[in-house]
Parts: sequence; structure tokens; C-alpha cells
Amino acid sequence: MQVIKYPAKESWNSVLTRPIFNVDELEDAVNLVFGEIKRDGDKALFKYTLQYDGVNINKTEVNRADIDASESMLDDELKQALVIAAKNIRTFHEAQFQDSEVIETSEGVCCWRKSTAIEKVGLYVPGGSAPLFSTVLMLGIPAKLAGCGEVVLCTPPGKNGKINPAILYACKLVGIDRVFQVGGIQAIGGMAYGTESIPKVHKIFGPGNQYVTAAKQRANRIGVAIDMPAGPSEVMILADETAEPEFVAADLLSQAEHGADSQVVLVTWAEQLIEGVEQELEKQLQALSRKDVAAKALENSKIVLVKSKEEALELSNSYAPEHLIVSVKNEDLLIDEIKNAGSVFLGNYTPESAGDYASGTNHTLPTNGAAKAYSGVSLDSFMKSISFQKISEKGLLNLGPVIEVMAKAEQLDAHSNAVTVRLNKIKLNS
Ligand code: NAD
Repeated sequence: MQVIKYPAKESWNSVLTRPIFNVDELEDAVNLVFGEIKRDGDKALFKYTLQYDGVNINKTEVNRADIDASESMLDDELKQALVIAAKNIRTFHEAQFQDSEVIETSEGVCCWRKSTAIEKVGLYVPGGSAPLFSTVLMLGIPAKLAGCGEVVLCTPPGKNGKINPAILYACKLVGIDRVFQVGGIQAIGGMAYGTESIPKVHKIFGPGNQYVTAAKQRANRIGVAIDMPAGPSEVMILADETAEPEFVAADLLSQAEHGADSQVVLVTWAEQLIEGVEQELEKQLQALSRKDVAAKALENSKIVLVKSKEEALELSNSYAPEHLIVSVKNEDLLIDEIKNAGSVFLGNYTPESAGDYASGTNHTLPTNGAAKAYSGVSLDSFMKSISFQKISEKGLLNLGPVIEVMAKAEQLDAHSNAVTVRLNKIKLNS
């Protein structure tokens, strides 16, 4: 990892440029695939699954029997781990339900909001370089809790033409019974337009590589909602002299192994930490099964030495990392200073992988600086709120004149009139 000492503030953006593909460059591929899906439906899905995944399929939907059979293909230890993770994720997301309160904004004028589930949602579970069965839990549990009527899931087939049994078992656990063996651009296009086999959905969720992210953005432009841009993973660690070099290196590598396009950044004001972290990185990297991928990601990654804790926080807020680990003395004191991050991990004993799998928070998070304006996936992401209001005669007598004045000032006579005709009737009856 490149070490950058005391970079000037003006250079922060260029120092921490993300290795993101230019979405415009991906547009041609996305437009081509989307156009064919719109025209040819499933036939286009078969064609591009062969082209991009190297797998010849002649049907997209996985049989119910294959989903059920997945249970016998996993060992008990993994099944048990999935059950515990699912319980924690459910507990955390269930607590996000909010009661809607009726608010009387002025006498006789009552307003409230009612949350309702999005009826049809599509979940994308990455499966290109690793089968992310944990993403099934992260998306499927809140979708089911919210009460979404139709929940479909797409994930690419493995090289053997089959979906990893852990993904299918997670689907069974969560109660998703429509699973499609389609990945990448073609999965997003399939859910955006609908085909003979895949239903068209109202909102698409899930992380993915740059092709998936570009396809989601295109789907959004043709009127399908998306959760957020959730592209290649990233982590930033803020660390002082109390951080453990061994832990810091392990956390950096845990995101680096996601993909060559991941970025990991250590920001510290304790220069003595750097050497230890570098040694640990070297040592731990050798033992990883995905060491080539992680090593490639480390090429895009940086260790930044800053002057102070305050400067580190400013840098972190301007980078807006997907994951932020805070390994400093009295870490809780920093909470209020954190303005932009997808998900935060406090203290030396809170590894980022806890949030990836099992602590309960959601791992589908905004990347590429989108945490400045987006939140990660939550129960709310699967719902929308409808506002209601009810006004009594007395309420309209009070509020009506205000509406009439404002409507007339905007030269919207019909708006004003909708109040006036009612006020006249009330006055006539009284
Ligand atoms: P993926 O499922 O996102 O992508 C695989 C698909 O990409 C394939 O099915 C194929 O159809 C398509 N593809 C591959 N090469 C192509 C090409 N040349 N042209 C067009 N399409 C092509 O799986 P992945 O590649 O392993 O990526 C997963 C990503 O998700 C990683 O970047 C990881 O960092 C990210 N991730 C993000 C979050 C988050 O919350 N932001 C969480 C988990 C994972």
C-alpha cells in the first residue's frame, strides 16, 4: 500500500480517487443488453448468460425442488450460523417499524402518514467472484418483514451451471421461492422490463460489480426505483496508537479480498503504527485463498498519515466511506463528528465482517462517496409512506382563508375556488 504523508487538503480528492469504472463507458454494453431484453425477453437472457457467464441455460427459474434440496447439501455448522445471523438481522430490522401518529396541525386539521410495502421487489445477489449468500439475508429479511407481496431474486449461475447451495438455502430460510439463475446486466434488465419468466418489479436492490451498478442506474432512468449505487466495496480505518496492527491489517484485507476494484484506506496520526500494519499486511496476505485479488486491490489503496485526529475526521467525512472502522482511544467520543459513512464499526473488537454477516446491521451500503446523501438498506427501503389528511368543517373555516390567499397569490384560481365553494356551503348551513 502506498504511504502518503501529510497530504495537503487540496490534494485529498486526487489522493483518494476510487478505482471506479466510468459508468458512461459501460453504458453501451448496458444499452445493448437492455434493448435486446426488451425485444427478445428470455431469449436475450439465455444469450448473455452464455456470453458473460459462460453457461448455457434454457430456463431462468430455479425449481422449487432444487431450493428445498439445498438444505441437505450444506453442513450443519453453516446452516446453524445462517440461522443465528438471520435471527440478529431480523431483530435489528424489526425494531425499525415506526408507529404512525395522527397530528392535528391546527384545530380540525388532521394529518398522518401510513407506511405500506412496495408490492414487487427484485433482489440481486452477487455471485461472480464469490457466492454472497449473506446478501440473501440482508435483502430478503427486510423485504419479507416489510410485507412486499412479490419478492424475486436473481443471481448468476456458477461455472457448473448451478447456483451455490448456500444461496438457495438462505432463500429457503428467508422464504424467497422465486429464484432466477441470471446475473449481471441481464439480471437487472430482466427485472426492469420483465420477461416471459421474470416478473417486472417496482424496485431493484442489491450490491454488485460495475456492470450491475451501471445497469441499476439505467433501470432507474427507465422508471424502476433502485436502493442506491452499491458498487465495489471499500473500508476506511481511523486508527491511533491504541490500534492493534494485526487487527488493522486483517480489516484492510477483509475488504481488499472482495475484488480487485475494492479500495481500502488507513488514516492515522500515529506514525509508529504504519510499520507494524505493513508487516502484518505482508504476512496475512500470503495466507489468503484470494491473495491475488486482495493484492490487486491493495495497489489501489493507501495509508495516509495526517496531523491530527481532527484532520482524520475531516478527511473521512470528505471521502464518505462505505465502511468506517474507528480504532482509537475513547472511540465513542468521535460518534458525533462522523457525518458521512455507510456503516461504522467502533473499537478494537468490532471487525467490519461482523456487519457483513451476523451482527444484525445491513451490509448493502452506499459506495463511491454516495454515503454523503444515501443510507444503507433498511426496512424503510422496502416501504413507502402515503400521507393522509382529514379536515372538519371547523378546520376548513380556520385554514380555508390561508389557502385562498396563497392560491390567489400564485394565480391558481381553481385551487382557491375549491376552498371557497366549501366555505360558502358551510356558511349557508350555519
Ligand atoms: P456480480 O454478481 O456483481 O457480477 C457478476 C456478473 O457480472 C456476471 O454474472 C456477468 O454477467 C457480469 N459480467 C462479468 N464480466 C462482464 C463483462 N465483461 N461485461 C458485461 N458483464 C459482465 O459479482 P462480482 O463480480 O463478484 O461482484 C460483486 C461486487 O459486489 C464486488 O465488487 C463487491 O465489492 C461488491 N459488494 C458490494 C457491497 C455493497 O454493499 N456495496 C456488498 C457486497 C459486495
